[in-house]
Amino acid sequence: MNSPMHFDLVAIGGGFAGLCAAVRGAELGLRTAVLEAGTGEGYLCSSRWAGGIFHVSYHDVKLHPDELRDAIGKQTSGEVDPELAAAIADHAGRTVDWLANQGAEFAQGSPINWHRFTLAPPRAAVAGQDWRGRGPDRLLGELRRRLLERQSRLFLGARATALRIEHGRVAGLTARRDGAALDITAGAIVIADGGFPGSAELFRRYIGPRPDLVLMRHAGTAIGDGLTMAAEAGAALTGLDRFYGHLLSRDAMEDEGLWPYPQIDAVATAAIVVDRQGHRILDEGLGGISITNDLARLDDPLCGTVICDAPIWETAGKAAQIPPNPQLLAGGGTLLRADTVETLGEMAGLPPQSLTVTVADYNEAVRSGRLETLSPKRSTRSGAPRPVETPPFYAIPICAGITNTMGGIAIDGHGRVKRPNGAVIAGLYAAGGTTGGLEGGGALGYVGGLIKACVFGLRAAEHAASRGG
Ligand SMILES: Cc1cc2nc3c(=O)[nH]c(=O)nc-3n(C[C@H](O)[C@H](O)[C@H](O)COP(=O)(O)OP(=O)(O)OC[C@H]3O[C@@H](n4cnc5c(N)ncnc54)[C@H](O)[C@@H]3O)c2cc1C
Repeated sequence: MNSPMHFDLVAIGGGFAGLCAAVRGAELGLRTAVLEAGTGEGYLCSSRWAGGIFHVSYHDVKLHPDELRDAIGKQTSGEVDPELAAAIADHAGRTVDWLANQGAEFAQGSPINWHRFTLAPPRAAVAGQDWRGRGPDRLLGELRRRLLERQSRLFLGARATALRIEHGRVAGLTARRDGAALDITAGAIVIADGGFPGSAELFRRYIGPRPDLVLMRHAGTAIGDGLTMAAEAGAALTGLDRFYGHLLSRDAMEDEGLWPYPQIDAVATAAIVVDRQGHRILDEGLGGISITNDLARLDDPLCGTVICDAPIWETAGKAAQIPPNPQLLAGGGTLLRADTVETLGEMAGLPPQSLTVTVADYNEAVRSGRLETLSPKRSTRSGAPRPVETPPFYAIPICAGITNTMGGIAIDGHGRVKRPNGAVIAGLYAAGGTTGGLEGGGALGYVGGLIKACVFGLRAAEHAASRGG
């Protein structure tokens, strides 16, 4: 083993959370380093693949903190840790300003008001992957440049494997690089490895039995190392059974041209989702993230098919920024169309009689306003349901795509890692996708992955600097 190197602050992971922490720490006079498991300048991470929209629970990041706090509270049905919600609400605005000072270029990504802070250039509004040279890819390059300008270090191909805690506080860590151990002592460590969406083992343990039948809608580089290291160091973990994700064409399981977009969420939410027997199986009214989680927890996560009619396909189908109508067909995805529900069932391999009864029962409940008679129930959180009654009828076989885990390491408002008794582990911080406590509630409300990564990256560095690293 090499003799130990020392840094005031070390970030584990070179996504937005880790880079923000290391650049901000260096700006405040700390000697910082980033350990990144990926190799090469364009190492993959979810930050690089992101759509680039900075928002707080689908609200403009520059709104008054009280409004942002309300938005987070509503999204998460109040289940969020108020200290974390306050940190996001109070620091979102100045975080995008700080990013702009680091070279981030923002543009209005679409006419939607909360798309005002979209990293430029935005991705094209087409199906499939389109991240090279786009805003997030560029900003990672800018942050890397700022990091190196400030004499900080970026260790590529360095995978952190264990934290060293001595006398109850962080003392350093060990990483593997080029087959050798890298021993580092550190005043502060920021775990910023992105969470565990890429770990089949942790998915099976916390979310559902069949990770192999759930689409990995992310870069595949966040595999739970941080969670495991933090737990070994005595950290509390929270909310591990939920994730942020979207519904995609089932063809995306085999075809890269159909993910991460178009998402089928808006159509599913306006219509119905049935299983292989033609029965409704979940509450569509709770929205796309909730439907995605429900499917991913099943023994057969690929059982779902969205059934809608012409008015839904022509409105909800066109509503998203990268809408399934027409991007699903443009990307080569399956869209079945028939003049009757019975024929649609035959085409989709669903029992026609059973599907016809499901649709008729649903329509009757919607028309009579007696949604409570449906089983499973149909709530109205994401809009009033509409009958599926006007031909042509459409069927879209879907799959569940996991983007980020929502749960993870428990932190306080400064990003300090907490123990189960609420005390913090001195010198240990976590930021971004690896943390929990900010998202959830009945409809699995989302706060925004980019703002969460960058706010807590900054907060962690600022707290560490206030203590001298
Ligand atoms: C397709 C897609 C679109 C998205 N669009 C948006 C959007 O428009 N708006 C939004 O708010 N959010 C969006 N998100 C979510 C957002 O990108 C993430 O929440 C955020 O980027 C997470 O940042 P992070 O730094 O925590 O993790 P990551 O970006 O995943 O970075 C973690 C890094 O840690 C490294 N690493 C892992 N383990 C180790 C280890 N042991 N040692 C060293 N390094 C390690 C990984 O290689 C990786 O580079 C999107 C995500 C995806 C996948």
